[in-house]
Amino acid sequence: MQVPAHFEYRRATDVDHAVALLGRFGPEARVVAGGHSLIPMMKLRLAQPELLVDINELTELSGVRLHNGPDGPELRIGALTRHAELLDCALVGEHAAMLHDAERVIADPVVRNRGTVGGSICQADPSEDLSGAFTALRAVAVIRGADGERTVPVREFFHGPYETAVGPAEVLVELRVPVRAGSGSSYLKVDRRAGDWAVAAAGAVLNLQNGRVTAAGLGLTAVGAPGFGAPDAEEYLLGRSTDAGTFAEAGRIAARACRPVADQRGPVDYKLHLAAELTARALTAAAARAADR
Ligand SMILES: Cc1cc2nc3c(=O)[nH]c(=O)nc-3n(C[C@H](O)[C@H](O)[C@H](O)COP(=O)(O)OP(=O)(O)OC[C@H]3O[C@@H](n4cnc5c(N)ncnc54)[C@H](O)[C@@H]3O)c2cc1C
Repeated sequence: MQVPAHFEYRRATDVDHAVALLGRFGPEARVVAGGHSLIPMMKLRLAQPELLVDINELTELSGVRLHNGPDGPELRIGALTRHAELLDCALVGEHAAMLHDAERVIADPVVRNRGTVGGSICQADPSEDLSGAFTALRAVAVIRGADGERTVPVREFFHGPYETAVGPAEVLVELRVPVRAGSGSSYLKVDRRAGDWAVAAAGAVLNLQNGRVTAAGLGLTAVGAPGFGAPDAEEYLLGRSTDAGTFAEAGRIAARACRPVADQRGPVDYKLHLAAELTARALTAAAARAADR
């Protein structure tokens, strides 16, 4: 039986309490949310925190709401929102449909009932589906520490595999997703079997005016795209029409920036092919959804 090394456990009563506990115990303390990534790593001794700070009672970190912010409406998604809640949320389906697309293919109901949005993003596994999706959506992460709150665009949040902008005595509290009129989004994934991690996946967001692209967001998962992004392909799309040739070229540009590794999920060439093809298909689906709005 795999058993984690000895650790202490505290249940936080609010976010400030969680921050204080993390600060008191230093870099060997870790937040536990759903535990679906952290606990397996502890059992394998890939992580050996001395203290777990349980945030599961912090209801203020749960749920999704539509908020009118200074830059326009945005979806505010609490870090402790479970995958299953995100999948059930009608507001998410209406304003950020790609999050529903992504959630449908993340693991299985057992994992989705417990795993959280914040845990997914903070884990920063290169195969984490929501990392690609939030990158495409240009979400902003809200992080709280002893000095108060700061905001970090998700595009600057990932410092590398399993490394994020969240400091040792900080808690991710929320993700903010801009809501834009006339936009459509889609997320597509290829996996070896239902519920598996991605072989490759791509998310796309498009804003259209008179059939031309006025804004584009792309996110790629599991293919070694730096920061899960494809900025050159986004730039290429601006001002262009939504035809198959444009989307195929955007896919080729996106794939050129990817650096996948060969593993049991497939060779490099196959993953690059998927990056290009999934990007083009996600753009096609996003355009169709944008045209419907
Ligand atoms: C069998 C299985 C299959 C899976 N398949 C997929 C898949 O196909 N696609 C996919 O994307 N994911 C998949 N996952 C991962 C799943 O989505 C996890 O739930 C998620 O990665 C982590 O969420 P969690 O709440 O369990 O995080 P935890 O395990 O609790 O935490 C993960 C990390 O984030 C930190 N953390 C958590 N919350 C916060 C916070 N609010 N502030 C600061 N740090 C925080 C923790 O300290 C830890 O370092 C799978 C998991 C399993 C077990």
